[in-house]
Amino acid sequence: MNFIKKYDITEDHLTKPSKRRPGSSMQLPIKFIVAHDTGNRGSTARGNVKYYENSRNDMFASAHLFVDDKEIIECIPALLSTPEKAYHVRANVEQDNILFGSNANESAIGIEYCYGGTIKAEEAYRRYLWVIAYTIHKFNLKPNGSVVGHFFLDPTRKTDPVTGLAHSRRTYEQLLRDIEEEYLDCTGGLQPVPTENHDRRGTVITTAKLNIRKGLPSTRAVIVTFAPIGTQLEYVDWTDDGEVINGISRWYKTQEGNYFWGGGVM
Ligand SMILES: [Zn+2]
Repeated sequence: MNFIKKYDITEDHLTKPSKRRPGSSMQLPIKFIVAHDTGNRGSTARGNVKYYENSRNDMFASAHLFVDDKEIIECIPALLSTPEKAYHVRANVEQDNILFGSNANESAIGIEYCYGGTIKAEEAYRRYLWVIAYTIHKFNLKPNGSVVGHFFLDPTRKTDPVTGLAHSRRTYEQLLRDIEEEYLDCTGGLQPVPTENHDRRGTVITTAKLNIRKGLPSTRAVIVTFAPIGTQLEYVDWTDDGEVINGISRWYKTQEGNYFWGGGVM
């Protein structure tokens, strides 16, 4: 499958071995992507990488890529050569294990969004979307459900990339939708070939308060109950022919035969 190369990725790898880049390999295959922002208004991709290099032995904290309005810089190998470990999520959070079955630092690419100051938000956002979509393509991930925000994994300590995205007047939910659209745009609408699997059971986590509807994949159906944000929901099947909300027609079916909308889960 071809993927449109809209932007260049600049290689500027940190010196190894160092605390920020030990040079250790990751657990393959890569399973997911963590969306971050720098948490530092106005700091550029180049500035962040320079800072990392200068402080490379200060701490075990890093990310694979930094993105602003001018550049996409890879400072820990991820897309340009064999992925190496970066330290972008605390190892003792649980949500990454629950969602993806492994620690983010072992199995996820960390991508930082630079925002604020003189950074042109629209340009930075476009590059951010593209490089995340390209990472999905590169590691053969699903365009839907392979990206998670840092705040979602570490909610008591982190707000990224929600804070950074707010500078571009976008929400996290919008980001996830736009990534999927970007992926389809760059692959000419092609989805990865699904693996042979007729068992459509699974588990998702709600990203918003979600109503569970009685018997039909539609907001016209009676609300049976609701699931607060962050609830783990099991499904036994799904349909892509449900009521379309925000462009998403997927609805999941519960054990009880009720439905919830696929746009509110990950
Ligand atoms: Zn982060």
